[in-house]
Amino acid sequence: MKEEIMQPIPMVDLQAELNLLRTPILEIMTEVLDSGNYVLGEKGEMFEKLAADYVGANYALGVANGTDALVLALKALNIGPKDEVITTPFTFFATAEAIAEVGASPVFVDIEADTYNLDPAQIEAAITPKTKAIIVVHLYGRAANMKEIMFLAEKYNLRVIEDACQAIGTEFEGKRVGAIGDIGCFSFFPSKNLGALGDAGLVTTNKKTLYETMLKLRNHGSDKKYHHSLIGMNSRLDEMQAAILLVKLYYLDIFLDKRKEVARRYTKNLPGFLLKPNVPSGREHTFHQYCIELDNRDKLAAELARNHIASAVYYPVPLHLQEAFRYLNYKKGAFPVAEQAANRILALPIYPMMTSQQQGLIISTINRFFEGKGNEEK
Ligand SMILES: *Cc1c(COP(=O)(O)O)cnc(C)c1O
Repeated sequence: MKEEIMQPIPMVDLQAELNLLRTPILEIMTEVLDSGNYVLGEKGEMFEKLAADYVGANYALGVANGTDALVLALKALNIGPKDEVITTPFTFFATAEAIAEVGASPVFVDIEADTYNLDPAQIEAAITPKTKAIIVVHLYGRAANMKEIMFLAEKYNLRVIEDACQAIGTEFEGKRVGAIGDIGCFSFFPSKNLGALGDAGLVTTNKKTLYETMLKLRNHGSDKKYHHSLIGMNSRLDEMQAAILLVKLYYLDIFLDKRKEVARRYTKNLPGFLLKPNVPSGREHTFHQYCIELDNRDKLAAELARNHIASAVYYPVPLHLQEAFRYLNYKKGAFPVAEQAANRILALPIYPMMTSQQQGLIISTINRFFEGKGNEEK
């Protein structure tokens, strides 16, 4: 009976958010429709200005997606063949894909066990004369240790790109991520914390020269029509997505607060023996994902599925073990912390419009699962 009336609980409910914002979104979409201007225009410029202000960076440029943001950042920093870029093996594929895309080599460094972010203590050993930059990822919305990373970057004269695709609005020691390193990269893929209704992305920087270079690079190396000073790409933010993002940016802080509220309730009410998200002081977590760690995650995932509750593994295969990166010759066991996380992590549903009832159901299902199993399953 109870099972019959229960609606499935997804990882993220975009429809619920959209229902709330339907009227302002339709209004601004109509404005774009009637403007006759669909790529690079007034809405895009307005969004860039507000996004730069929001992140706390001097400049922001709308681009086609988060992956392009990373590629543009690398190109703007002149990184290419023969260069090495240090990054984490525990991230979405695009982070390292962008490095390979510009012809450089990704060099992986293991993660911190309690935050899943790049471990600054292991970076130094991976630096070679070819190392040009570090791409740090603020995974799941939690800030990486930017203080240590910026210190190392300065010491070895390396550039820092922040992959903040999952972390818009997250603060590190009072500064928003994406405005700390040389360039910040953001994705507005629909399921991200600030999501468009299609693909979209952003680069941010405090440096005028990098801004000017990326301004050209995203538009075929041109800032004057049919005059091209660089080999660039076509990676522009279209007006429709910019307009939608303008509406959604206005609600972002409210939505991030809701995510944090859902996270607090999980942390308070889930069994104490589960490893729950750690938030070191000064390193905010805006909970793009809420991940727990446990031995028997596949069994718990199956039990949740039986109760029509989604769960997901971000990410089941660390990048050094991906087929596409076999040419880098990393072996299993090379990054034990990342490999262990990949085997043990489980993301629970989290989104701003999650109801208290939905969350209560998830919490009680998990608690019941462990009560039924007794101590052996811990
Ligand atoms: C989503 C994401 C990207 C890629 O963004 P797209 O807009 O999908 O291209 C890159 N890095 C991380 C960490 C991401 O989560």
